[in-house]
Amino acid sequence: MYATRIPKTVPVLFPEFLWTGSPEDRALHLTFDDGPHPEWTPRILDMLAEAEQKATFFCVGENIERHPAVFDRIRAEGHSWGNHTMRHESGWNISQYAYLKSFLDCEALTQSGLFRPPYGRIKRSQARSIGARSKIVMWDLLTGDFDTRRSPEQCLKATLRHLQPGAIAVMHDSQKASGRTMGLLQGVLQQMQSQGWRSEALAMPGAKAGIEGEFPH
Ligand SMILES: [Zn+2]
Repeated sequence: MYATRIPKTVPVLFPEFLWTGSPEDRALHLTFDDGPHPEWTPRILDMLAEAEQKATFFCVGENIERHPAVFDRIRAEGHSWGNHTMRHESGWNISQYAYLKSFLDCEALTQSGLFRPPYGRIKRSQARSIGARSKIVMWDLLTGDFDTRRSPEQCLKATLRHLQPGAIAVMHDSQKASGRTMGLLQGVLQQMQSQGWRSEALAMPGAKAGIEGEFPH
């Protein structure tokens, strides 16, 4: 279930998460998960700079530690960034403590107040704790660039059917997705230019103080 808009019932079940932007202002929101990556993130940043578009990067803490200069470049070029856990854990197969610790460790690096759960998998109890401190950002357009069985053309065709102002689209700055992401992004940027659409970075509420000690140990 991707390269499609998510079913309308899903946001109704989880109204506390951010699923979509506002269609009124002609802006959409390109987002990139799983970086920073030393090769693909700079190439994506180059393409965004060339097209004069802004995006949001949900970064894995360990990757920020490995590639701090790439993370600095994201921040220096007017994009937003968010927390994607320290080690890209799924919330479904991890203890509450370990998941929240991973959130906190990454939050210490990102300090943005935006969080996206890896795989979109988060338990209600985890969402309650994290949502009190961070905006939980999901998506309404999954491009499918992570699926190695698909071609960039397939991803692009399906994505363009659903791309529109207000969309929050997920792509990846990762090695695994790169075979599709770069061609996909190029096509998306061309479509945006021809339609006069822009991508805006998601607003960052900023980190809230006092987070330590409030989670159960
Ligand atoms: Zn991810």
